[in-house]
Amino acid sequence: MQACPRHVSTAIMAAMELYILPLGNCCCNYEVIAPGIADGKRIHIPVPAYLIHLDDGSLALVDTGMNRVHISDPDHTWGGTPFADELVPDMRKEDSLLWRLAELDIAPSDIKYVINTHLHFDHAGNNDLLKDATFFVQREHYEFAKGNPSFPNQYWNLPALSYELVDGAITLFPGVEVIPTPGHAPAHQSVLLRLPETGNMMICGDAVYCQENYDHDAWESQADPATAKVSALALRDRAERESASMIYGHDPHQARTLRYSTQSYT
Ligand SMILES: [Zn+2]
Repeated sequence: MQACPRHVSTAIMAAMELYILPLGNCCCNYEVIAPGIADGKRIHIPVPAYLIHLDDGSLALVDTGMNRVHISDPDHTWGGTPFADELVPDMRKEDSLLWRLAELDIAPSDIKYVINTHLHFDHAGNNDLLKDATFFVQREHYEFAKGNPSFPNQYWNLPALSYELVDGAITLFPGVEVIPTPGHAPAHQSVLLRLPETGNMMICGDAVYCQENYDHDAWESQADPATAKVSALALRDRAERESASMIYGHDPHQARTLRYSTQSYT
């Protein structure tokens, strides 16, 4: 464990390439992502992770999806808890992080960095695979999640993993900036990417689940709705200033419009 004294370039340069990795779905009630629209209706929400080829050739992930154990045992994390019906993973073998990396000829040991937007089970579920990576998490979030059963620690709070805790907004690599967006959880963070051809993209994480959060002013399913709304509106303002496309955390409608691995955004 260490603080974050790293020296980073603030020059605006381009990250090289982004792959959106489809890591299965989670079955839940509509109100889990957007309350007051179709409450009680069951939906499948996409669970992505993001692979970035940095411009020095190294590989970074944003989030790591749900643990592969859910392919054979969907109830593994939440069975017998109040969340058992609220969150039901639906994963095929192709939806494991290992499979998606292998499709791109990448081994887990090739991943040098991971940015976790936060440490929920669908965002940090395969951290355990990435023992050669440095993980960037906001310090306040890490401290909140440690020992907290809402953030199943077995997937990420492991002695073999190296966390570098950060405080606030920072450009981690040329073209990759993290932006605190609290409300979904304390010190949740989103990621602004600068791609050379596509332009800027804002990986919202769960700061914004879906477009309907904005359209219906629907923030009540966030842990701290008032704070989440402030973060989401500020994030949209920032995205507009940066001409950045926003990628929402779990939007089944937007998912149909995105380009998934093995295709990429350059
Ligand atoms: Zn999530």
